[in-house]
Amino acid sequence: MIHYVIQATHPEAHLFTVSVTIPAPDPQGQVFALPVWIPGSYMVREFARHIVRIEAHANGKKIALQKYDKHRWQAAPCKGSLTVEYDVYAWDLSVRAAHLDTTHGFFNGTSVFLQVVGQTAEPCAIEIVRPKGAHYKNWRVATSLPEAKGKGGAKRYGFGRYQAENYDALVDHPVEMGNFTLGTFEACGVAHDVVITGYVPNLDMPRLLADLQPICEAQIKLFEPKTAQAPMARYVFMTQVTTDGYGGLEHRASTALMCGRNDLPVLGKPEMTDGYQTYLGLCSHEYFHTWNVKRIKPAAFAPYDYAQENYTQLLWLFEGFTSYYDDLMLVRTGRITPDAYLKLLEKNLNAVLRGSGRTKQSVAESSFDAWTKYYRQDENAPNAIVSYYGKGALVALGLDAKIRTETRGKKSLDDVMRLLWQRYGRDFYTTPTPQGLAEDGFAEVVVKALGKAASPSLVEWLNRYLRDCVLGTADVPLAMLLTPLGVAMQFTNSVERVDLGVKTSDAQGWLKITQVLDGGAAQAGGLAAGDVLIALDSVRVLPNTLDKCLSRYCAGDSVVVHYARHDIVAASTLRLQLSTPAVNLIWKNPSQSPQTLQRDWLGQPATRR
Ligand code: ZN
Repeated sequence: MIHYVIQATHPEAHLFTVSVTIPAPDPQGQVFALPVWIPGSYMVREFARHIVRIEAHANGKKIALQKYDKHRWQAAPCKGSLTVEYDVYAWDLSVRAAHLDTTHGFFNGTSVFLQVVGQTAEPCAIEIVRPKGAHYKNWRVATSLPEAKGKGGAKRYGFGRYQAENYDALVDHPVEMGNFTLGTFEACGVAHDVVITGYVPNLDMPRLLADLQPICEAQIKLFEPKTAQAPMARYVFMTQVTTDGYGGLEHRASTALMCGRNDLPVLGKPEMTDGYQTYLGLCSHEYFHTWNVKRIKPAAFAPYDYAQENYTQLLWLFEGFTSYYDDLMLVRTGRITPDAYLKLLEKNLNAVLRGSGRTKQSVAESSFDAWTKYYRQDENAPNAIVSYYGKGALVALGLDAKIRTETRGKKSLDDVMRLLWQRYGRDFYTTPTPQGLAEDGFAEVVVKALGKAASPSLVEWLNRYLRDCVLGTADVPLAMLLTPLGVAMQFTNSVERVDLGVKTSDAQGWLKITQVLDGGAAQAGGLAAGDVLIALDSVRVLPNTLDKCLSRYCAGDSVVVHYARHDIVAASTLRLQLSTPAVNLIWKNPSQSPQTLQRDWLGQPATRR
């Protein structure tokens, strides 16, 4: 057994001290490595750069440690057990790394636990030690790591010894420590903890628990309708609250989240705010990943390679389909109304349609290049890339609608997810040879899931749909696909609006261009990201007056724009264009009784006669 010890030795200096003891190190000289990325966040982050001191010991003597690349070390050959001890600087306030101060500590194993190369299948013991000093005497621990049995084993929420069956498991259970607020509910007989770190006045924890519970039960039952068997023994939602944070990262039995203080519900105020709806959607998203990506995985992630990029074209399925189901589960469980759900679909649809990058990059390509493009977006992103989240969710919606329509409601995308689960997910952590989905394996799963309902014309449609909308850059033909579900698409043109074809920000009171969109007036006139707009036709323009200034013009009008680039003022004449119309989604009065289809889809009828 490999033995790790971690302690927040200097919270004020943001330092965790970690040691790893190997009873039988490689006689040739044991190699250690720290992951360069964390699964779920597809970017090389070089976590080893935060190791500030490292040394090795055996039999009370110091052992030479040779660093041989950015994230690997080799100890000199030694007899008996070997211990490596190191300090990790933890000051990344995100869900992806580690963060420590005198108010709390949080870490992902990928940031703090060295991998013992050649022994990653060995079980691990993890001693989580309370920081020294009276200030920390009330701190507790929240993690989905199982407590070790017997002497020294941690009690629930306590410091002490935990265990993991191998390195993969060790780094898939993040740990939070501090004076957090804790709530608990049961879903399908499994305990779910809700851990909130950070001060939130008048937090309505009972409401949060009451809202999360049906979302979790509905997801468990979606994948296991007969047994309602959850895939984990317990689950932990851990949320770090900041002023305006947002983010989440999925794990096999927990999720690390960030949200803004005002996203969380307030005692005595039962209304559904946009912030709370977004937070519930985020919880639902990460929870859905418990099945879709933490157990049903692309073959490229089975197993993960922590040393480099892991390439797959399938993130449109693992992130996009998860994005489709996150909000869908909110409406199916009655947390939001069908009207609110349609607004969310509309928002995503418009976000996808606004970027011309969707005509240049497919969602399969966007998945593959996530490491260098989606995760490293620059000012040209809307012109160059498509989101595998946003368009992936539309691909899921279109496919779900088509299956429901063609099978007259007998089958749906739920059946496809269930077959993926049965084939790849259910036994992922128990079988000795876990398999992932092949890069070209999705179509066959859909056909199998539809069974007899997979008519030759539907199979032909499916292959064309995946070729055009997933491997190709075609828009998902939603206007047609959504009609049978009682949803109509309209382009709004009630007010004729012109724009410059830019995205802007408020830079200390100045209107700064952050992005220049392909084909727009600003690009044609030579304006660039970083330019500060000063005036339109000699009228000063400010961050909050651009729209008003533009409302005095029509498409085709010319306007002289004064702007500054690198503090040099220049002028350009722009020819204004009509803004791209936004798409509206509306419930259509059902002509041919789509109410059954609609009710099955949403869990409740959206339209009433
Ligand atoms: Zn996700």
